[in-house]
Amino acid sequence: MICILCPIGCHLSIDIENDYKVTGNSCPKGEGYGKEELIAPKRVVTSIVRAYGGIHNMVPVKTDKSIPKELIFECMELLKNIKVQSPQKIGTIIFENILNTGANIVLTRDI
Ligand code: SF4
Repeated sequence: MICILCPIGCHLSIDIENDYKVTGNSCPKGEGYGKEELIAPKRVVTSIVRAYGGIHNMVPVKTDKSIPKELIFECMELLKNIKVQSPQKIGTIIFENILNTGANIVLTRDI
């Protein structure tokens, strides 16, 4: 697989019969990424939610850390029901610990 943590894009090989030994990485981050991607892949979720009380009807949001890939659609369903009152600052947490992942949903712009 290709490491997506930086633009270098190292080509990783992971030996699943040898405790997920990672080779091909140019830095230690690639080792962690390669193992996690095979054992329990995670992603940062980006989306938009409704806003009211200001000039914007929608506001972009994201998780402040990656969540298990299998929870992404459930996370998106929850976001459909969230409405944010303006004004708010970028980085404001609008939903804590989504799906008990430890990740918060934060605004990615001022409204
Ligand atoms: S292994 Fe390190 S240097 Fe290579 S793409 Fe991943 S983060 Fe970048």
